[in-house]
Amino acid sequence: MARIAFLGLGRMGAGMATRLLGAGHQVTVWNRTPAKASGLLAEGARWAGTPGTAAAEAELAFAMLADDAASREVWLGADGALRHLPPRAIVIECSTLSHPHVLELAAAASARGLRYIDCPVTGLPHMAAAGELTLLIGADPADLEAVRPVLEQLSKSIRLFGPVGTGTGYKLMINLMGAVQIAALAEGLALADRLGLDREAVVGAIETGAAASPQVVRHCRPMAEARYAADPIFTVALRHKDASYGLALAQSSGVPAPLGAAATQWWSKAKALHPGGDEARLIEVVKPS
Ligand code: NAP
Repeated sequence: MARIAFLGLGRMGAGMATRLLGAGHQVTVWNRTPAKASGLLAEGARWAGTPGTAAAEAELAFAMLADDAASREVWLGADGALRHLPPRAIVIECSTLSHPHVLELAAAASARGLRYIDCPVTGLPHMAAAGELTLLIGADPADLEAVRPVLEQLSKSIRLFGPVGTGTGYKLMINLMGAVQIAALAEGLALADRLGLDREAVVGAIETGAAASPQVVRHCRPMAEARYAADPIFTVALRHKDASYGLALAQSSGVPAPLGAAATQWWSKAKALHPGGDEARLIEVVKPS
C-alpha cells in the first residue's frame, strides 16, 4: 500500500481519492475549499493544510484540478507540492491541461529528481467514483509499470501513447473533436427548429442516426428541450478550456483546424453567458434570435 497525496477534490477528484482510500492506501488530501474533503476525512483520509504539507511524505502525488492556473499554483506555488515531495516520488497529473504547461511541469519535476506521469482521463464523475475511467498516459514505460497497480484502482482502461506529453496530446485532440461535435449538433438543431421540423421526430432520428456519437446523444434532448442540469457534470467553462488548449496545440503543431477554431468561438460566446452552466446551453448562443 502506498502513501498518496491527492490534490483537488472537485467532481472528479473526490471520487478518485475515495477509490484510492477504499483500496487501502494511506491518502492525505488537500483542496482549496476544505469543506469538500469532509466525506473523505470521515472515511479515514488525512487532511493537509497546504499542497506542500500533503506532499511531504508521499510516494505518489495525484492532482485533479480545473486548469493550468490551478495546476501551477498547486505544484509550483509558494506552498506548492513539487518542492516538498521526497526524491523519486511520482507525480501523477490527471487534470486536463495545456500541452506547454504539462511539459514545463514535467521538466520541473525531473529537475527535482521526481518522476512524472502525464495522466489525463476520459469518463464522467460517476465513472471516477466507480473506478471506471480511461487513463490517457504519456510516460516512461517503467514509471507506468511502477504505478500500474494503483492506477488500476481508478480505471477500466490504461492507454499508453508515448512519452510525457502524449497523454495530454491525445486528450486535447479528442476533447476538441467533442467540442466540434456538440457545436455541430447545436447548429443542426437550430436549423431543424427554423425549418419547423417536429421536435420529437428530430430528436429520435438524431439519437439513432449515423451521427449519433455519445457526445451528440448526451446533449441532443437537453438542447432540443432547453432542459439544462442545475449542477452539471461538465461545464461550459471546462469545455471552452479544453477546446482552447486543443486548438492552441493543433495550431502550434502546424494543423490549422478551422472546424476546431469555429467551435471554440461558439464555446467562448457560451462561456461569457454561462461559465458554470450545462454544456447543452451552447444552443442558446447558436440559435438565431
Ligand atoms: P471541478 O469540480 O470544477 O473541480 C476543480 C478542482 O480544481 C477543485 O478541486 C477546485 O478547488 C480546484 N481549483 C480550481 N481553481 C483552483 C486554484 N486556482 N487553485 C487551487 N485549486 C483550484 O472540476 P472537475 O469536473 O472535477 O474537473 C477536474 C479536471 O478534470 C478538469 O481539468 C477537467 O477538465 C477534467 N475532466 C473532467 C471531467 C468531468 O466530466 N467533469 C471528465 C474528464 C476530465 P475548489 O473545490 O476550491 O473550487
